[in-house]
Amino acid sequence: MHKFNTCPYCNQKISFKIELEDIDTNYYPAPVYISCKLCNQTSTFYMDSRLQVSYKELGIKKSKMTTKIKTIKTL
Ligand SMILES: [Zn+2]
Repeated sequence: MHKFNTCPYCNQKISFKIELEDIDTNYYPAPVYISCKLCNQTSTFYMDSRLQVSYKELGIKKSKMTTKIKTIKTL
């Protein structure tokens, strides 16, 4: 699924590809690391079950709920 959003570091428009197999579907919102190619910073995006972004945080946030957190580079 091709997603559009903004990077919380540089506030520029980013796009990335994500599928359900990229996240831990045992609970939501599911974290994924998004590496912005514009500013080279990595943020944590939290995805819901429809792969919509629920919220996002600066930096790499660990989760107590899962160890499966993938890093996705922006396109
Ligand atoms: Zn950025």
